[in-house]
Amino acid sequence: MKHYNYLIVGSGFSGLTFAERVATQCGKASLVVDRRDHLGGNAYDYYDDAGVLIHRYGPHYFRTNSPLIRDYLSQFTEWHQVNYEILSYDDGRYWNFPINLNTFEQFLGRSSTSEEMEQWLAEHRVPIESPKNSEEVIVSQVGWGLYEKFFKGYTLKQWKRDPKELDASVCGRISIRTNRDNRYLREEFQALPKEGYTRMFERMVEACGDKITLKLETDYREILSEVTFDHMIYTGAIDDYFDYCYGPLPYRSLRFEPESFTSEQLLSREKISGKKNFWQPAMQVNYPNEENFTRIVEIKHATGQECNNTTIVREYPDDYEPGKEAYYPIPAADATTLYQRYKKLADAGENVSFIGRLGTYRYYNMDQVVGMALTEFKKLEQIL
Ligand SMILES: Cc1cc2nc3c(=O)[nH]c(=O)nc-3n(C[C@H](O)[C@H](O)[C@H](O)COP(=O)(O)OP(=O)(O)OC[C@H]3O[C@@H](n4cnc5c(N)ncnc54)[C@H](O)[C@@H]3O)c2cc1C
Repeated sequence: MKHYNYLIVGSGFSGLTFAERVATQCGKASLVVDRRDHLGGNAYDYYDDAGVLIHRYGPHYFRTNSPLIRDYLSQFTEWHQVNYEILSYDDGRYWNFPINLNTFEQFLGRSSTSEEMEQWLAEHRVPIESPKNSEEVIVSQVGWGLYEKFFKGYTLKQWKRDPKELDASVCGRISIRTNRDNRYLREEFQALPKEGYTRMFERMVEACGDKITLKLETDYREILSEVTFDHMIYTGAIDDYFDYCYGPLPYRSLRFEPESFTSEQLLSREKISGKKNFWQPAMQVNYPNEENFTRIVEIKHATGQECNNTTIVREYPDDYEPGKEAYYPIPAADATTLYQRYKKLADAGENVSFIGRLGTYRYYNMDQVVGMALTEFKKLEQIL
């Protein structure tokens, strides 16, 4: 029996952050187990057959307002600064998105001003003092017309739930602006690891030296009889850990359909993309209405990779059942109630911490799970 200080389930952002901290700050040994055949969890990226660096599990736009988290990760990567910009496609044309003065002008079909837009919004928004769900949070800012054009169909497709049933934070994350700021996100620091996420994760592992043992393509249950440990850090799905004893938590799953193009094939797209060797005019285009997919991502716009080929990925929302990848916890009241039952069991366990997006069943971004792992490290550093 080999003994480890920590058994860490999952080699994503949260698992590897924790492993790196305990190795380099306390000299503690971890066994990191992941059932996938690679590091990095959902943030894993790789070069596909066309030579294009793509994100396997959907686009991952790193951003943070926390200098602490930025500085922590900067030990393992340099950054490629990006102003993430996206568009929305509807009625046979591209629209600036999130809604801003440029979108408003496209909507009017003429030039306008911030003042005119503010007045228009004031006339159309539905007065709701404290919006309680994702429909209310948008109609209270822009009214029914823009809500239906840009938000309703997309949200229904993505979550298979009416926006009325979803937490206000789902659509509330998207800014509405009356200036010409086309940036998708609002955080101060927006950048991708210069050589990709996977290279950054490899450096985190290298920093651990002999204090880390990695076991990929392995479910942690398979090795429980072979090892002993003081404490487990669990970053998988909490309902899975408890063998779905209260029934499965609801998640949304996704299906990704990549398609690659050579520079010859891209010649006919130049008028649309406005750029040589690109397929579409922005890193991400949302398809809120007619199509079955929600978005097409051409991540080469954001990575800055010099490559004549390109790859686009169509993203289709999919129903979830245990066995499929659980991508998104559902931010709705019924799901939270069921999660609370699992959390009670988790809180009662003594030598296991549940962290990360699936371990805490919460829609967290990458920087937030890094923050969570750093906090857990600080807590356990005192007692273990
Ligand atoms: C489509 C999509 C797009 C996203 N886009 C963004 C974005 O643009 N910006 C952003 O900040 N965040 C984004 N996120 C969120 C981001 O993916 C998460 O915040 C982050 O990956 C969470 O890291 P984690 O380590 O908690 O979990 P994960 O990355 O999910 O890693 C958990 C790991 O645990 C492993 N595991 C689970 N169960 C077991 C088991 N029984 N045995 C062994 N291994 C197991 C899994 O294989 C997985 O590798 C996105 C998420 C998705 C799904």
